[in-house]
Amino acid sequence: MGCRSSKATATATVSPTRAPKQSNDSIDTSTTGTNHYSTTKTGRQIALKKVGEESFMSNLVQQNSGSITADYHIDESQPLGTGMTCTVKLITHRTSGKKYALKAIRLNRLQQDKIDDLRREIEIMKALDHPNIIKLYQTFEDHSYIYMVMELCTGGELFDRLADQQGSKFTEPKAADLITKMLSSLNYIHLRHVCHRDLKLENFIFENEKPDAEIKLIDFGLSKVYLEGQTMHNVLGTSYYVAPEVLAGSYGIECDLWGLGVLAYMMLSGQAPFSGDTDKEILKLVKIGKYDFLPKKAWRKISDDAQDFISKLLVQDPKDRMTASEALQHPWITNYRDQKLANDSTAQNSDELAHDVYDNLQSYRKFAKLKRAALIAIAYTLSQDDIEASRTQFERLDVAKNGFITLDQLRTVLESQDVSDAEVEKMFNDIDQDHSGTIDYSEFIAAAMQKRIYLDEERLHDAFHRLDVEGTGFLTVEGLTKILGGSFSPEEVRIHLFFF
Ligand code: ADP
Repeated sequence: MGCRSSKATATATVSPTRAPKQSNDSIDTSTTGTNHYSTTKTGRQIALKKVGEESFMSNLVQQNSGSITADYHIDESQPLGTGMTCTVKLITHRTSGKKYALKAIRLNRLQQDKIDDLRREIEIMKALDHPNIIKLYQTFEDHSYIYMVMELCTGGELFDRLADQQGSKFTEPKAADLITKMLSSLNYIHLRHVCHRDLKLENFIFENEKPDAEIKLIDFGLSKVYLEGQTMHNVLGTSYYVAPEVLAGSYGIECDLWGLGVLAYMMLSGQAPFSGDTDKEILKLVKIGKYDFLPKKAWRKISDDAQDFISKLLVQDPKDRMTASEALQHPWITNYRDQKLANDSTAQNSDELAHDVYDNLQSYRKFAKLKRAALIAIAYTLSQDDIEASRTQFERLDVAKNGFITLDQLRTVLESQDVSDAEVEKMFNDIDQDHSGTIDYSEFIAAAMQKRIYLDEERLHDAFHRLDVEGTGFLTVEGLTKILGGSFSPEEVRIHLFFF
């Protein structure tokens, strides 16, 4: 594969040096202090949780000071992967035996701005709840390290999976399926004004080794929260994937879509659109945006739609490039999405889907509010095997691939059920625990969760531990009010705790 030999080069940043101070690369409180509003078809406003804002979901990521080794055994034998700043290791929770991935970053060798980057990476990850984005569960900090305990993925990098394919390329349906998921994760972060800035084959990994394993976006180390209309200036990224406007030092969120165009090209052909023997050669081609669909023999077998999709991403002027949500509506994506659903013999028909979703949501909303919060805490840490069916339902409902479900979408799905608009709205509001105007991924999984899963003692223990923010061994009004992050008043918590 053309890009096979390029892994080492691909991990080098274009320019590891930072721009002078006028660059805006730390979490800008003016950015994080504003809600990202958008309005749905029916005029209902949704307020997406912003990075850095306290919310129930972000509070579920526990931040601990002190040693990690008391809680986890670290496997020092074989790292899961190595990146720019660290190696990622396999760890096992000492009491539950559950396995996680650990990113440990040594602080005393880092300059202050790198430490700020790391704190920003953590704040960004805490705000994200999407099936195709790696989950951060816990952090630890001692005098020399910051440790990030993450969801474990055992399926390897997209880089290696691509190299293992026949001819080092995916079939079109497989590439379209993966790219839909990758785009969905991008659309989700862009709606929250987060720009990833380092999309590459190594930064997508697979949940497990199965051929249909879920793909996850990782490594928010170069990500940035930005204001609408704001330009970024730091020249960074990885040579094969970097957008021309990034090299010019003035860019916006569109740079991620260029990176996705490069990835799509590589996944379909096994070659990089901009390549050369040195970084200098590659960057020269990127600057002028010069690429071709080569070798011609290979591209002749690839559809016009696929080539059109790539051409609308590898556009020199970022203003003319497709956005993530536009790319999700491109015929190459939508046709393969429809085809996949039509070919899936296990897929529920619309009536079955509506019936199941309605039943699950109805039972869930009857639970006390605090029990629902506990179920979300459980849902947050469930593995793929536990939630396969509910995840598929979530994907079916999330037609816009925003990573959340709106009231309009729920109404459309439940049209076939004998339920009034007012009733659907009431149901929606009960499930939208944080009143964001959306049903988030973990909220939906919590609602669809089977009893056998949430009555599992170990999971209950884990959820209890997450809700017990003060580590006292008790659920207190103060502790719960704090973790619920504004969704409940202390008075409400007191009442619910009484009946829990
Ligand atoms: P860095 O920020 O130092 O570049 P990354 O976050 O990119 O580090 O991680 C380095 C490598 O470790 C990844 O390319 C991947 O192979 C592996 N890795 C990262 N996160 C996980 C995870 N959650 N599960 C399994 N492997 C991981």
